[in-house]
Amino acid sequence: MEKLLIIILNAVLVSTIMCLADRVNNHIHIFIKRSFCMHCGHILHWYDLIPILSALLTHARCRYCHRTYGMHYAYFELVGMLVGSYLFSDTLAWITAYLLLFLALEDWHTERIHADILIPYIVYLFIHSWSDPKILTTCTVMIISLFLVYYRQAMGSGDIPVLLLITLTTTAQSFPLTLLLASISALLYLVKHHVQRLPFVPFLYFGWLSIILIEKIVTSMTS
Ligand SMILES: [Zn+2]
Repeated sequence: MEKLLIIILNAVLVSTIMCLADRVNNHIHIFIKRSFCMHCGHILHWYDLIPILSALLTHARCRYCHRTYGMHYAYFELVGMLVGSYLFSDTLAWITAYLLLFLALEDWHTERIHADILIPYIVYLFIHSWSDPKILTTCTVMIISLFLVYYRQAMGSGDIPVLLLITLTTTAQSFPLTLLLASISALLYLVKHHVQRLPFVPFLYFGWLSIILIEKIVTSMTS
């Protein structure tokens, strides 16, 4: 019963994060009204909002104007529900996964993020990890990031809190692996899609999540 509640909680959370990101990306106030169709504006009923199931039953189409909103919602909700439920016992990783998911969705659509929402959490993690050697890595990452943002202008200022959060939620071994995986995946995307620039937070999120999941799976197999 407890596992079922955790799965439902995570399905609802992923769906809510995607809804919030949609509203922010479309410049709609997040508290303006109940969920509605982005095409016709019709208020959605509770049975239109059941994570995964509603999209599958309606083939990802609005029941009122019949325009599609994309099956990717169902896929995201399914993967998010599974990953969120798996990470649930590790509170810091769980919270970080949801914060980074929101910022990755925002960065992907607008190439701008509300990275300041991370500041209180970063301060907490910084104090929490004060005696840990990773504080030195965090300070080094901050200095390099400030140089890259304000002197070389090679990345956006919103990337700094994301990088600090990743530094504080990974080990000394997994942090470089996270950056490596994020950079390789971003490079492959650049080559495949022939683009000059891209939002980097989704790739950082992909790298961070992949490494965290691999670490946890390996640990559970060897213990
Ligand atoms: Zn509609």
